[in-house]
Amino acid sequence: MHRYITIFSPELGIIQAIAYGARKGKLAGKIEQFLSGIFYVYENPVRHEYSIVDVQPQCLSDGIRSSLEKTFAASFIAETILKMEGGARQDLYDLVLKAYSALEKNGDVTLVLIQYIWKFIAVAGLMPSLTHCPVCDTAYHERDTLGYHSALHVPCCRRCSDLFEDDSRMIMGPGFRRYAVLTAAMDFDEAISVELSLPTASRIKRYMLQYIASIAGGELKSLSMVM
Ligand SMILES: [Zn+2]
Repeated sequence: MHRYITIFSPELGIIQAIAYGARKGKLAGKIEQFLSGIFYVYENPVRHEYSIVDVQPQCLSDGIRSSLEKTFAASFIAETILKMEGGARQDLYDLVLKAYSALEKNGDVTLVLIQYIWKFIAVAGLMPSLTHCPVCDTAYHERDTLGYHSALHVPCCRRCSDLFEDDSRMIMGPGFRRYAVLTAAMDFDEAISVELSLPTASRIKRYMLQYIASIAGGELKSLSMVM
């Protein structure tokens, strides 16, 4: 049996490759969902199709695949790449690898998702200012609560916010803003070690999920699985 595999690599971006004999043969049991490693591929010069020759796993995914919550998180991460890959591929690859390794090594799923999205926004070159409103350029005070500009996909001051008044999902309070600024300067592993209370973590996670869905144009199929 052959399988079609989707691979994301820093060199080639997203490619489809055929794994011949993925169930019986030398690749059997080697290729699993969310696996990271070195994939040796052959490109057919006529049909420009890739086939997988061998795989050297670097980070396995047994831990991810044994948990439904982690599988959903990893699927969501994969979908954001499929939807928005482009630009800083190596940085994006490094980020996904860190997120998958953290899930595999029992990292907190909520914190991994929060930081994956927050770092994704930075890698995509969309990091918003958290000191000034990007619409009217007013400097924020320490205690300000920020709203959101849904057309520009950025946090902004409450006056420029175009949220409905009762929509509290995209409100960034002062504590959340301090956390966002603090962790923006950290690497991924350090950032996911910053502890949050459970209600705070789930509120920030919902915000980040809405945020990336807004950047993606709203069409993320696996969003409801991680929300
Ligand atoms: Zn403003």
